[in-house]
Amino acid sequence: MLETVKTTAPVLILLGPPGAGKGTQARKLEEGFGLVQLSTGDLLRAAVAAGTDAGKAAKAVMEAGDLVSDEIVINILRDRLADADCQQGVILDGFPRTTVQAEALDALLAESGQKINAAVSLEVDDAAMVTRISGRYTCGGCGEGYHDSYKQPAQDGICDNCGGSDMKRRADDNAETVASRLTAYHAQTAPLIAYYDCKGALQSIDAMGEIDGIAQKLGGIVKAAIS
Ligand code: AMP
Repeated sequence: MLETVKTTAPVLILLGPPGAGKGTQARKLEEGFGLVQLSTGDLLRAAVAAGTDAGKAAKAVMEAGDLVSDEIVINILRDRLADADCQQGVILDGFPRTTVQAEALDALLAESGQKINAAVSLEVDDAAMVTRISGRYTCGGCGEGYHDSYKQPAQDGICDNCGGSDMKRRADDNAETVASRLTAYHAQTAPLIAYYDCKGALQSIDAMGEIDGIAQKLGGIVKAAIS
């Protein structure tokens, strides 16, 4: 059973395949709008690292590039949404990924008289996603994202943002797993574009360009959606 979450703050969803830039853009929105980025991928990776029951169940599924069960993900999301910092508003990054998850989110928000403000679909070409994902890495200290081809730190291996040297690559960011993740996206997540369109909540943007240009367009959409 889902429990009531007492929040009246904005709830935004970023939709798009792996590599579309959801995480990068969500972090920019966090800074720009004082919202909290809520990534179920990050929450699951933390559960795997902590060795919780959910993490143990999710590990092999994530390594194969498949979707973790709705039950596990909805429970993890519900718990995180109830945290105090989320009461200022959230950007959901990587959730929902199935119709069951979308319906559970609607039900969860309805318990506190809320609904989502907007679901923004980041539109990209599949073919470019394998290259984007295969070359990406992040600073383990502050989460700043980098890429072998598109965005390298000024000094090799040193984060421009925090000066840390603990660069990390995700275990599932390899060509084989990316193919499975894209298949899962098209089969199970892409139908959510129609789901939110039917509710009049869908916005779409071309997300193939420069990060800052996309952030500007997205910022305009978010500003209108939460005001
Ligand atoms: P992400 O960091 O969003 O790319 O997610 C990494 C992996 O975590 C995915 O390939 C899935 O295995 C799992 N995952 C993240 N979010 C969800 C979700 N909402 N539903 C099911 N599995 C998820």
